[in-house]
Amino acid sequence: MDGLSAAKWETIVVGAGAAGLIAAERSGACGRKTLLIEKSKKPGVKILMSGGTRCNLTHHTDCSGIVRAFGKQGSFLHAPLSHLSPQDVVDLFEKEGVKTKVESTGKVFPRSNRALDVRDALVRRLNASEVTLKTGEAVTDLSRDQHGEFRVQTANTIYRCGKLIITVGGQSYPGCGTTGDGYAWLRDWGHTIVPPIPALAPLTTSDQWLHQLKGISFQNVELWADSDVETETQKAKRERLIRCRGDMLLTHFGLSGPAPMNISRVLGISGGHLPIIYCDFFPEHRQAELEQLVRHLAQQSGKRSWLTGLSTHMPQRFAESLLKVLGLDAQRRGSEVPNPWVVRVAESLKRLRMKVTGTRGFAKAEVTAGGVALGEVRSKTMESKIVPELFLAGEILDLDGPIGGFNFQAAFSTGWLAGYQGQNPRS
Ligand SMILES: Cc1cc2nc3c(=O)[nH]c(=O)nc-3n(C[C@H](O)[C@H](O)[C@H](O)COP(=O)(O)OP(=O)(O)OC[C@H]3O[C@@H](n4cnc5c(N)ncnc54)[C@H](O)[C@@H]3O)c2cc1C
Repeated sequence: MDGLSAAKWETIVVGAGAAGLIAAERSGACGRKTLLIEKSKKPGVKILMSGGTRCNLTHHTDCSGIVRAFGKQGSFLHAPLSHLSPQDVVDLFEKEGVKTKVESTGKVFPRSNRALDVRDALVRRLNASEVTLKTGEAVTDLSRDQHGEFRVQTANTIYRCGKLIITVGGQSYPGCGTTGDGYAWLRDWGHTIVPPIPALAPLTTSDQWLHQLKGISFQNVELWADSDVETETQKAKRERLIRCRGDMLLTHFGLSGPAPMNISRVLGISGGHLPIIYCDFFPEHRQAELEQLVRHLAQQSGKRSWLTGLSTHMPQRFAESLLKVLGLDAQRRGSEVPNPWVVRVAESLKRLRMKVTGTRGFAKAEVTAGGVALGEVRSKTMESKIVPELFLAGEILDLDGPIGGFNFQAAFSTGWLAGYQGQNPRS
């Protein structure tokens, strides 16, 4: 055992991601002797890679906008958000010299477009609050002795503390250190773990023709999930993500981008039965309007192929492949296109059935849905209702939001509150 093992810490925080960095900082700022232990060599690894290394740190909305984005789970966030709102997050980083900007999607980024600036700001705050950070050290086991003291075990050391904050995240992107370690510890302590599933993951399809169109992207499509055989409970669970609007990218394996990723969690909760995913490429048009548009584009092409006209409103390679899949001659003169062809194209653009075979799993999921059941955590303090003096925050909880900065906001707000360990943050 090294020298630190003899020292008793008032508080230990396990996991230096978004939630852990902020929780430890708050704990230190409250005057508690705090140790933050991180498995990876660097703190905040996911922050560094987030948002395409730009870090979409929150969303330009108010607290109720965040709550709504989390669907049924959202109400858990009322209390944490009342102490650290999206505006508070922006103010916090601006105070650290990280200027922010809002993009047209409502996503908030550092003006520098550097996730590193966000991570470094959190580490600066951590240092200022005199927290001890140990990196490259994985916690391997947790236990509690008969006096109620926690024992936090790593490869070479057993640390002891009176209060414990667990912020080890979920199990997506395991290369970042998030290998679902917290679930077993918490299950052993009597917590219910809602089965973890990959969320915000790209979708795999067996549509070979779409694979060949890799690299083509679409703006603002609408995807929805449907099934003939799902139970009422399954239907209810899918309510929130049954329709997702956003951009979509075709890839060599299937579908990526915000719309497919936002809908991906429905595949995990379908109980083994894959829902059918449809795509509407023109959600702003009703079916009849789209037929009119397709007819107009064909007629406008006159003696030229109708593909020429269609290509003014969608990528040419996509239009060509779609006509081929539908068995329609792409070279037919625009003026000679029969009406049933127009209707078939319009129908396919409004309701293209994608042969989705699954998601790319935890390896490529940006978040984990599932985790510690929210009913077992006090949302006013983040303390476990089962293990006193134990606090939980971030993605380890059964909380997952859509793309757009919502997940960091939840991690920051719950981490902030957990850091106070039951003290009133306003006092
Ligand atoms: C590629 C990618 C891009 C993303 N982009 C965005 C984005 O732009 N905006 C957004 O809002 N969300 C984004 N997310 C989601 C966001 O990163 C997470 O929701 C958020 O990081 C969760 O914070 P957390 O602190 O709970 O967990 P994490 O950030 O995952 O941190 C958990 C930490 O605990 C450590 N740990 C795990 N086990 C142990 C152990 N046994 N001992 C010690 N330490 C341990 C891990 O190494 C890790 O550092 C993205 C995720 C990914 C994967």
